[in-house]
Amino acid sequence: MYATQLLDIGDLQTRIVPDPTPAAGEIIVEIEAAGICGTDRHLFKGEFPSTPGKTLGHEFSGLIVDTGDTDFTLGTRVAIDPNIWCSTCDQCRRGRVNLCANNIAIGIGRDGGFAPYCAVPARQAHVLPPDLNPAYGAFCEPLACTLHGMDVGNARPGEKVLIIGGGVIGQLAIQLAVLAGAEVMLLTRSAEKQAIGKACGASHCASDTTSALQQWPEGADLVVECAGVSATVSMAPGLTRSGGRIVILGVLPSGQTVPIEPFDLLFREINLKFAFLNPFTQARATQMIGSGLINLAPLVSRQISHDEVAGVIENAPLPSDIRAILRF
Ligand code: NAP
Repeated sequence: MYATQLLDIGDLQTRIVPDPTPAAGEIIVEIEAAGICGTDRHLFKGEFPSTPGKTLGHEFSGLIVDTGDTDFTLGTRVAIDPNIWCSTCDQCRRGRVNLCANNIAIGIGRDGGFAPYCAVPARQAHVLPPDLNPAYGAFCEPLACTLHGMDVGNARPGEKVLIIGGGVIGQLAIQLAVLAGAEVMLLTRSAEKQAIGKACGASHCASDTTSALQQWPEGADLVVECAGVSATVSMAPGLTRSGGRIVILGVLPSGQTVPIEPFDLLFREINLKFAFLNPFTQARATQMIGSGLINLAPLVSRQISHDEVAGVIENAPLPSDIRAILRF
């Protein structure tokens, strides 16, 4: 089969590799949909630790075509949780699985979903309904990460929630905040992403802090940073109401620092939090997507073929891109 593999930093190739066979406890998934994520671009550029020679693709879903020695039923549609925690280290034993130093992510540390078939441990597979639009299964992993962020932020009915960054994480965060009963503003620069934010349930949109504070002079009860750039992390405290919370979901390059004024955070008692990966949220994300609770149609920007994947990863996303989805 053909697989899109990162052979080295800056060297991504779609090349012939052997079909996978299931090891003990594994199944083979025939991929239906795989999302191209910003992390794939970071891996390509060497901005995120990678393992040479692995097939990329960590946001994917498909049909089980080989059940191996597991109890799964052939043909079941599943979404894959890419993060394989070791379950035995100190952090895993404390329930802090997303802090597991031995995590091997499918599509990063072992072969992933940018290929027609992928071998995965059965415990990573979460069942999706047979009548779901196959493209939607690829959103379970980003939704699971966003769910963790919103769990950390704990939006409550009647609160004002400001989401910074109108990419897939921001658009999913809008929907989770609306489901929590909050009034939601999206701060993102592009008009296209603001329009998608409205379709996802944001009642207010802004392109910068001035416009956001004109609309909500007191600031938001909860600010969720989903852009992953230093400018948006530094703007978050100024957009937060005294006594409010900030959750940083965006990933900044390792080593980058951002100016923060502890005096302001202390005197206004603003709680600055972080949320990383998808600890125990993949099942809820799969349930929400399977039941149609999340509006995913506006988030599928384009469906691409396998021979387009390397080009899409190597180039910057289009301004209107939320997610490009590989379909087989
Ligand atoms: P994305 O597609 O890059 O979306 C982020 C958006 O932020 C951009 O499209 C951009 O839209 C907006 N933005 C950038 N600079 C801005 C600025 N100065 N002011 C306002 N908006 C700005 O990324 P994504 O896939 O949604 O992911 C968001 C972040 O979450 C990334 O850093 C990603 O690595 C991270 N992430 C974290 C986790 C976790 O576990 N914590 C999991 C998945 C992803 P405009 O052009 O409209 O401004």
